[in-house]
Amino acid sequence: MSVRYISTRGGVAPLSFSQAVMMGLATDGGLLLPETIPQVEAARLTQWATLPFAELAVEIIRLFASEADLPTADLRTLCHRSFAGFARPEVTPLVQVGGRRILELFHGPTLAFKDVALQLLGNLFEYFLARDGGFLTVLGATSGDTGSAAIHGMRGRAGIHIFILHPHQRVSPVQERQMTTVLDANVHNVAIRGSFDDGQRIVKNLFNDLAFREQYQLGAINSINWARILAQTVYYFFAWGQLSAGNPHRRVSFSVPTGNFGDIFAGYLAYRMGLPVERLILATNRNDILTRFFQEGLYGTGQVQPTLSPSMDIQRASNFERYLYYLLDEEAAQVTRLMAELEETGRIVVAQSKREAAAALFVARAVSEEETLEQMRSFYQSTGYVLDPHTAVGVKAAEAYPDAICLATAHPAKFGAAVCQAIGHEPEVPPAFLGLLDRPSRCAVLAADTDEIKKHIVATLA
Ligand SMILES: *Cc1c(COP(=O)(O)O)cnc(C)c1O
Repeated sequence: MSVRYISTRGGVAPLSFSQAVMMGLATDGGLLLPETIPQVEAARLTQWATLPFAELAVEIIRLFASEADLPTADLRTLCHRSFAGFARPEVTPLVQVGGRRILELFHGPTLAFKDVALQLLGNLFEYFLARDGGFLTVLGATSGDTGSAAIHGMRGRAGIHIFILHPHQRVSPVQERQMTTVLDANVHNVAIRGSFDDGQRIVKNLFNDLAFREQYQLGAINSINWARILAQTVYYFFAWGQLSAGNPHRRVSFSVPTGNFGDIFAGYLAYRMGLPVERLILATNRNDILTRFFQEGLYGTGQVQPTLSPSMDIQRASNFERYLYYLLDEEAAQVTRLMAELEETGRIVVAQSKREAAAALFVARAVSEEETLEQMRSFYQSTGYVLDPHTAVGVKAAEAYPDAICLATAHPAKFGAAVCQAIGHEPEVPPAFLGLLDRPSRCAVLAADTDEIKKHIVATLA
């Protein structure tokens, strides 16, 4: 019996894996999930513990797709291709620094953990489009980081064009160059004369323009795509395998710097599949909506506050609905009701019993700006290892859990200014960044205006 995909809001007829990946956001406004979660028994966990990363990815993902929909031989090719470009043979090495275990997720082409998922997503998109026909126009707005990982995931892929909007002169020079020096014909950078919020608004307007959306087959690459979650599940199993040497009784905790709840949801999925997870430590910066949920049972949105860890500056966590679905005993009607309530009132509250159930696995902590800097500084002083500010939030949140594996979500060189503020000098420049500022680049500069952007897309694709 192969896995089929349903929506958290119950309004989508069961889909295959390929349909779920191509759909992204469920058409009823919910998020897609497998109807049942595949279970991995102890003997198999032990076998998996010795697999190289790409092979482990094959074993995990094939549980979520039928052989007819995605033959294992093809999946194997796609997985090897997706992770071959990482700078380390382990793909996501688990290193010990001082007494701390750090899972380095930043060895992909843009030095951020999002590469793990977006490299695979690009390959899956290309494969399904070639097989089933059609094309895709990926459209997104970025404040810096997601855009470059998406561009590097989609560059050069047949059947796909990608348009990424960033605020003109409001991203760091390195971030700007990571995007605009990608010269593949299918990559289209647009700097808008406006803010990140303007970019988001324009993208939203274009997705709401149903005729345009249909004609150009607009697709999103935000963290709601199921394939991104699955790809991220792999490194939880991988890290456990490294640490446990396959002993199925060895339980492990993970500390996860969290924004949209995608990465930590992947950890939850691994737990539900049977990975012996002790605790999931949910680390937020002062944008603490998720921390408050796990501490108080209240999920209420507020104003986004800028921090040193900007990729975690969120107001509403786009993947949280997936967790809510399981917390509410897989009752889509309840999820729908609560999401409507959130839309109307800006807040939802869950019963005490649910909060206690969540607390059996999750512990949450919000980390202040001062604590983040202090963590970066003290870690550097005692070990010589430079944490990026996002990773530092996770390390700080795991203070009471010295055995927890801390996920390192970005290379410190991506956040040089914050590193400089913490330790007094910039981090070492990684090879991927050498000469970046001198390379040729291509980017259109346009007004922050929906019609202008629409015209640009139409003209570019004509
Ligand atoms: C996106 C991002 C996060 C947050 O991950 P979510 O899946 O959104 O919770 C954390 N750190 C870095 C560096 C990121 O880019």
